[in-house]
Amino acid sequence: MPQYAEIIIDLISNAVDRPFHYHIPQEMQKQLKPGMRVEVPLGNRRCQGYVLRLLHETSIATLKDVSSIVDLKPLLTAEQLALSRWLSLRFHCRLVDALHAMIPASFRKGRRPGEIKVVEPTGLAAEADLKRAPAQKTALDLLKQKGPLPRPELIRLGANSQAVRSLEKKGLVKIVTALPGQNEQDPDQELQGPVTRPHLLREEQAACFDRIKDALNINKPQKMLLHGITASGKTEIYLQGIAYCLEQGQTAMILVPEIALTPQMIEHFEGRFPGLIAVLHSRLSQAEKNRQWQQILNGKARVVLGARSAVFAPLDRIGLIIIDEEHETTYKQEESPRYHARDVAWWRARYNRAVLLLGSATPSLESYYEANSNKGALLQMQERVTPIQLPPVSVIDMREELKAGHRSIFSRSLLQELNGVMERDEQALLFINRRGFAGFVLCRECGHVLRCSSCDVSLTLHMDRQVMCCHYCAHETAVPEICPACRGTKIRYFSAGTQRVEEEVKKLYPQATLIRMDRDTTAGRHAHSLYYRQFREGRANILIGTQMIAKGFDFPNVTLVGVIAADTTLNLPDFRAPERTFQLLTQVAGRTARGPRGGKVIVQTYHPRHHSIITAANHDYLSFYETELENRRQLAYPPFSDLLRFLFSGPEEAAVFEAASWLTGKLQEAAGDADILGPAPASLYRIKQQYRVHTIIKGKNLTRLAPQIKKLIKAYHQRKTPEPVRLAVDFNPQVVL
Ligand code: ADP
Ligand code: ZN
Repeated sequence: MPQYAEIIIDLISNAVDRPFHYHIPQEMQKQLKPGMRVEVPLGNRRCQGYVLRLLHETSIATLKDVSSIVDLKPLLTAEQLALSRWLSLRFHCRLVDALHAMIPASFRKGRRPGEIKVVEPTGLAAEADLKRAPAQKTALDLLKQKGPLPRPELIRLGANSQAVRSLEKKGLVKIVTALPGQNEQDPDQELQGPVTRPHLLREEQAACFDRIKDALNINKPQKMLLHGITASGKTEIYLQGIAYCLEQGQTAMILVPEIALTPQMIEHFEGRFPGLIAVLHSRLSQAEKNRQWQQILNGKARVVLGARSAVFAPLDRIGLIIIDEEHETTYKQEESPRYHARDVAWWRARYNRAVLLLGSATPSLESYYEANSNKGALLQMQERVTPIQLPPVSVIDMREELKAGHRSIFSRSLLQELNGVMERDEQALLFINRRGFAGFVLCRECGHVLRCSSCDVSLTLHMDRQVMCCHYCAHETAVPEICPACRGTKIRYFSAGTQRVEEEVKKLYPQATLIRMDRDTTAGRHAHSLYYRQFREGRANILIGTQMIAKGFDFPNVTLVGVIAADTTLNLPDFRAPERTFQLLTQVAGRTARGPRGGKVIVQTYHPRHHSIITAANHDYLSFYETELENRRQLAYPPFSDLLRFLFSGPEEAAVFEAASWLTGKLQEAAGDADILGPAPASLYRIKQQYRVHTIIKGKNLTRLAPQIKKLIKAYHQRKTPEPVRLAVDFNPQVVL
């Protein structure tokens, strides 16, 4: 019998971020299992902790005793415990942060949240004669009607507490431990929509599906990428893949971006797998989240549909994990643990010998590169299920507009098309990307944007110091007065916000009804779906919005999409800017030509020859991929390397730089042949009065450095400094601003 336990203290603190050993008192040795929570003494206080492992021996001489056991059953599965360790190493987070990611917060709270006591009739109850004890009869009848209930619930429903005790004494009821949700009626049962049937797969679909089936039949972890244009029928393949898994007695998981988890989407899955789906997303109430979690634990839910964090759901015997729209940035968590759902899913696929299926119309460069280099991992679909063609896209060179003396933010072509939409009483969508802030400098004559010579990202203007700065390597140059490319003098900031566009449209079409959707107008809880419905029902002519209108919206009457300035994402000081631009343009273009009237897309830009824009206009992923991959190869960016970003922040500029320099020096000694960039100011140099400085390690197989880096981070936190400087470590960050 193991006598010692390795425990992680449940405190968010760097000081206790290591396993502690405790002695297990004799009477607890039989009960205690890894994954349970315990109470332990720490200094002169008492804390909760998670049992990672049981040990037969320890090298530590004097050990304190575990005070008590919190859970009757392990809260964490063996898989989750192993996953936590990996997560903490890979994404450089505290073990306790990793453990917390495994379980919803509501599930962790309270003393014994996993279990409740319920009153349940015994086999003797059927023959009981209670004619002379009406109160007991009432209580028992309630239980027969409703099933086992917690005592307070039973009493609330009208049972007398003395009567319940008498029943228990007579052996007519017993008190048992149950998991919440086990005995409840399923409140979703009535809400369920119609049951749907699988479609007969088209040829292309069938070919892809067969290969997925083959992969599922081999008991080996495999990663596959389904690259299919929008409406090529990817979802149908997911559904049939899941059905196949269930037939084999396995379970399945499908992750979608949060914004895609609409009620229709959920209904769609529940229609195909009635009663077997658990849905997990951030808008669920705590009680609802607990209930869904419980359904997974007790094996009732065999398919998990959810957003990013659902990747940790405690499914057993996983056969298939699907990540739809795998390129979406929302799969990366931007706070500790800074994990990517794709990486976690792949770990779980390996653990379970399952298939990981990634799906997208515009796959991330990393995923396409990997699938393309592995035999049989790339599945492709190039035809739409519906006969409607992808919309034609015209690229408008805004420099030509200026030369022709046309200074409006709308080009002549866009104006002409807008007039047509208004005349025919159709709908248009105008898209502005606000993510590009007015921080870059552009020549309005030739479209030239100042870039760093060694990093290939645009330089950011620092007005206060009058310099252009590279936010990867800290290279600086003076702000130019004439354009270094064409010697022109019309150098400007670039910006066009949603409000500005709205004003311009109002001037042009005073009679038109407009809806503007951006962070300001959709702050209210239901604003988003309200506007969506208004526009879908045709109660407005023009919808103006930021990227929140680019994704997933289905408006059959939209016949025109105008992209006001494609360059705003292109010029972000981030090496992923061309990829984001391509994805965004492809997505926005997909918002039109969804109905019988077809549709057109107009893209305004100062870079009509940029490969992101040309290839998006031609709906040509492959050409985009090849050009962009070559750029990444030249600069050794992912997929040719991994990045590890250290972001330092604090209110004192000098202290932040000092801290960054200290750790960067140590990293330089440890990093071997990996490149170290920085410390350099982050693009968003000052946020809420915090200065932000970062250092980036660029290299292959950075995970091999993880143990050393962990030590350095620990040393960093133990440094005695007058001014604390926050450190956030991010492995393969998706956004480097
Ligand atoms: P994607 O996920 O690739 O965008 P969907 O799976 O949503 O595409 O498919 C688009 C539409 O085509 C959906 O309405 C879907 O029900 C329908 N569909 C998919 N496959 C078939 C098929 N084999 N036969 C008929 N309709 C299909
Ligand atoms: Zn110029």
